[in-house]
Amino acid sequence: MSKEKITSIAELGEFGLIDRLTEKIKIRNKSTIKGVGDDAAILEFGEKQVVVSTDLLTEGIHFNLMYVPLQHLGYKAVAVNVSDICAMNAVPRQMTVSIALSSKFSVEAVEEIYKGIYTACERYGVDLVGGDTTSSLTGLTICITVIGEVEKGKAVLRSGAKPNDLLCVTGDLGGAYMGLQLLERENEVFKVNPKVQPQLDGYDYILQRQLRPEARVDMIGIFRKTGVQPTSMIDISDGLSSEILHLCKNSGVGCNLYEEKVPLDFQTKKMAEELNINPLVAALNGGEDYELLFTVAQTDFDKIKNDPDITIIGHMTEASEGTNLITTGGSKIPLIAQGWNHGK
Ligand code: ADP
Ligand code: MG
Repeated sequence: MSKEKITSIAELGEFGLIDRLTEKIKIRNKSTIKGVGDDAAILEFGEKQVVVSTDLLTEGIHFNLMYVPLQHLGYKAVAVNVSDICAMNAVPRQMTVSIALSSKFSVEAVEEIYKGIYTACERYGVDLVGGDTTSSLTGLTICITVIGEVEKGKAVLRSGAKPNDLLCVTGDLGGAYMGLQLLERENEVFKVNPKVQPQLDGYDYILQRQLRPEARVDMIGIFRKTGVQPTSMIDISDGLSSEILHLCKNSGVGCNLYEEKVPLDFQTKKMAEELNINPLVAALNGGEDYELLFTVAQTDFDKIKNDPDITIIGHMTEASEGTNLITTGGSKIPLIAQGWNHGK
């Protein structure tokens, strides 16, 4: 028997495991500008910087084929990767797709996934340039790598926020989480009685947020056009709290987030009420909204203040002031990351 300490993965958690696996990495090439630790890596070849991001989606963990249409799955797999490229302020250009398939998938089923992949490629202007295909014993795994391009000096890391910077978010939050709650509720009903039609009327927006999210490539264009250079940025895959804490930790700052400023859609609030969930909790701890969370210097305020897709939700502070949620009632409570883990 070995006396080596055995650590369960749960003990470390996702981020702890990544830290442990990557802490000994030695960068050997000058062309590696930024390695592990952000939404994407940054490489530099001559005057161009290239960003690279990879994501793995696993059946039963990231998606449930009971209620996720295959086309949407293909689309979402691309969108979530493109979102990481956007989070670097870069433009997506190429991607590779690798899949592992169990024997339960027909050729037609895989073609459905690819229909979604191609729709997303068209939408985001990305070329599919390669990948790998293999078999699997236990269902479907999709791994996508996206390569993007950014001018030297324009890439935005998680680490550039300064005290007094404005904390901003695109779109609205919590919708994808409420969409998932709705799908899971209807799936439970279906398991008990397959004859019952699912009750999904009036919730098209939150269902779309869950099943077919969009990456905010449009914002990258708007930043260029309006001359906004965010000081830090991340995409919201794990919930607002968790992402704010990433920005604060990486930038060495604190923050005040104002509860009443967090943008919530009508359908998100309605579903939350129906299920007796606080919609703010869905925004803070839900996930998969794939909006962009970023900071800008106060001097950029005029450039963003009239954009209906951008909400200022708070500001950064000195690290010593901590990371706080200022409630509508005016009390200050510490922001905690209950990042919704996708079961990762
Ligand atoms: P995101 O949620 O934006 O996809 P992750 O939390 O998955 O980011 O990853 C954080 C960082 O760790 C990224 O730089 C990613 O490339 C890196 N990373 C994640 N898993 C591994 C791994 N198994 N080996 C090396 N690097 C990894
Ligand atoms: Mg990310």
